[in-house]
Parts: sequence; C-alpha cells; structure tokens
Amino acid sequence: MAKTYADFPLFGGRPINPGLMGPINEWAAEVNDHDPGIWPVLKSHVSQGAGSAGASRGTHKKGWCIDFKSRGLANDTVRRMVNALNIHNSRYFAAVLRLPGEAGASEHIHAAFHNRENYLRVLALIGPDGPNYIEKKLAKRK
Ligand SMILES: [Zn+2]
Repeated sequence: MAKTYADFPLFGGRPINPGLMGPINEWAAEVNDHDPGIWPVLKSHVSQGAGSAGASRGTHKKGWCIDFKSRGLANDTVRRMVNALNIHNSRYFAAVLRLPGEAGASEHIHAAFHNRENYLRVLALIGPDGPNYIEKKLAKRK
C-alpha cells in the first residue's frame, strides 16, 4: 500500500521530509541573495517530493529528494534552477537534469538532499567533467 505522507509538510504543494523544512528555508535565503528571480520558478515547478514513483528507484521514498518540472522551459532558466539547487558546491542539494528516458518519462530536474538518499551518487555525476554536468545536459536537450 502506498504511503500517503499525510503528516509531511508541503513544499511547492508536494510532501517532503519534515527534516527538510529548516534547511530549505536556509537554502531559500541563499538563493534569494544570489538569484532572486529563480526562487518563484523553483517553487512553482515542484513535481515530486516524497513518493514512490517506480522510475525514481526508491530515491524519493523518505522525502529527501525533490523533482522539478523543466520541460518547455528555456535553457537559461533550467541552468539557473540547477545552479540554484547546487549553490555552494551542493551544500544543500546535488541536482541534475534528467532527459527523457534516463529516469522517468519526462524531462525533469532531480535534486538529492545533502548526505541523504542518492546524494553521493548524484554528486558523482556532476562537476565540470561529470556526464551530468549541466552544460553537457543542456547541449543534448531537445
Ligand atoms: Zn527524482
């Protein structure tokens, strides 16, 4: 039976782990200092928080990972979203752009919270030489 997460707080309308609320507020303050225009875009594009979508291979089960819709957004907007998530060398989240067929049916940004499920794996995929470095991913985007 699917867990409903009824006792979880909401971020962008989706349930997230209660432990994320404090860090998200700190992260929001950093993003608003650095690139204030992207904050409302992030908040209005949350597509999954805690959940059990099969394509996510369980990484969202405990609610420490967040997905953001990116399909249809301009490359520069997607770059700013991913950079805001990875602010301060992924101190809050490690985030990558997922293209169709990679992890889920639609293009989206997957963000894993610091030192929780999937964080080290996502971190290993980014960085300027990683296969999921944002400029490499944007170049493959259709
Ligand atoms: Zn995800």
